[in-house]
Amino acid sequence: MRLDIMPIRAVSGEAIPFDYELDLSGLELYGEYPIPSPVRVSGFAQNRADLLLLHMELSFHVVTRCARCLKPLDLPVTLFVERPMADSVEKEEDSDEILVLENGTVDLDEVARETIVLEAQMSVLCREDCKGLCPRCGADLNEGPCNCPPEVDERFAALADLFRRDA
Ligand SMILES: [Zn+2]
Ligand SMILES: [Zn+2]
Repeated sequence: MRLDIMPIRAVSGEAIPFDYELDLSGLELYGEYPIPSPVRVSGFAQNRADLLLLHMELSFHVVTRCARCLKPLDLPVTLFVERPMADSVEKEEDSDEILVLENGTVDLDEVARETIVLEAQMSVLCREDCKGLCPRCGADLNEGPCNCPPEVDERFAALADLFRRDA
């Protein structure tokens, strides 16, 4: 959705609200399509003392798997965006922050998508201390230890080899 900022350009204190749903089910992140249901995009564009500001709230569910134990996860996520808008960017260093208007409009879909891509984490855990799966038998170690013999640390194994050779 494109939001026309023209009506508030010359009127300090005015705001234009928006609230809609955006389909990002085709958005690929790290080889997955983690946002199958619509993203709620709401907020307002505001003229605050002649500074044009975009306030946006993104609310959606990330459907993925725990990076360690592969348990399916459905995480509610809310992101907030507050960015200035202008017809052009004067200083190079501002170009990441300022949203450049196109014919007096801002592309809300693009802002939403860009924000989600930037915030997306490479891996999500079901909980901070997820113990993951046993690399040998595949048991979920969160449910207790498996029956595999204790793991030999590779580095110690190499060290032990070294001693054996010297002997
Ligand atoms: Zn997990
Ligand atoms: Zn095991």
